Amino acid sequence: MGHLDDKQYASMIAGCQKCDRTSFEVSSYITREISVMLSEPNADGRWVHDDATFVAGIYKIRCLGCGHEPHATLACPRCERRDGLAEALATSSRISVPRMCPSCKITALTVTASAPARVRTGTSQTTAPTPIARFGEPGFHVVKIMCDACDWSRVAEGCPVCAGPAT
Ligand SMILES: [Zn+2]
Ligand SMILES: [Zn+2]
Ligand SMILES: [Zn+2]
Repeated sequence: MGHLDDKQYASMIAGCQKCDRTSFEVSSYITREISVMLSEPNADGRWVHDDATFVAGIYKIRCLGCGHEPHATLACPRCERRDGLAEALATSSRISVPRMCPSCKITALTVTASAPARVRTGTSQTTAPTPIARFGEPGFHVVKIMCDACDWSRVAEGCPVCAGPAT
């Protein structure tokens, strides 16, 4: 099963095929930005993804009425690599955040990461995403580190979710 497009997603959350409910729990790998000081987060961070990234990162949709899953994959939702999702959720970040910028030595860095999160859809608005993994936990993958003061940055190679080779 490949990743969803907007149309497939809209039709899946329009109503459950088994029980007619219209609320679902949707899990997706999305993008979070966090300010880090001495390699520790100094705030909770914020989501910075757009709608297209949200839909491209969806790996599970579960009906809140009966538990039916119209969509569930173990492959990476982003690059479709086999078992990529299972690996991404079980492993820690592949790049670690240094205590200070290797170039100018300041200790304030900005981290962009792929993080799994859940939302609830329903007749009213979709809820804000709740993170499933936080900074430092398995499943939370740093994809970019930027210095707040100079132009030093570091980017993780490969797929932003599972680190698989770029396709
Ligand atoms: Zn259902
Ligand atoms: Zn710097
Ligand atoms: Zn991937």
